[in-house]
Amino acid sequence: MATPEDALRKLAKLPQNIRCANCEKEDKVFGFKNICMPFRTFVCSMCKAAHQSFSHRVKVREVFWPSKITPALLISSYLFFYSVSSRSRKITKKNAMLQELNQSNFSTAEVESLKPPRGSNDLARRTWLGKCPSDSVERPREGDPLEKYKAFVLAAYENRRW
Ligand SMILES: [Zn+2]
Repeated sequence: MATPEDALRKLAKLPQNIRCANCEKEDKVFGFKNICMPFRTFVCSMCKAAHQSFSHRVKVREVFWPSKITPALLISSYLFFYSVSSRSRKITKKNAMLQELNQSNFSTAEVESLKPPRGSNDLARRTWLGKCPSDSVERPREGDPLEKYKAFVLAAYENRRW
């Protein structure tokens, strides 16, 4: 059975989503893992921080989620980590990660809401940023301070300037 993470992995790599909705940074290899839920966009880590500073909810998908999770895989992994956890403190973190594997961070409805045409970076570019040229000096670019990203998010999504 396909997990929500399988679907999100595909969505993140769609041509519509491989460029960050705001700053247009590209991540072709994995696609962005940060998803801004109110605007249904896939964003880079700087834009994630900028959105979060305005309390826009950002959820993070698992990049290395196994494509198929079977009960046997979960049990054998758990037993493996349990058996070695007493020997190493480093394992504690892995244990915590493993427990999270039991349940996806995303509901089916949330995944559906992100699928084009209901959501995508292209859609946000046509709506929230519809009148903001991609070469606008107001757009943040990689290397810019976080303040510039925040100012852009404020203008675009809070003040709806474009
Ligand atoms: Zn960005």
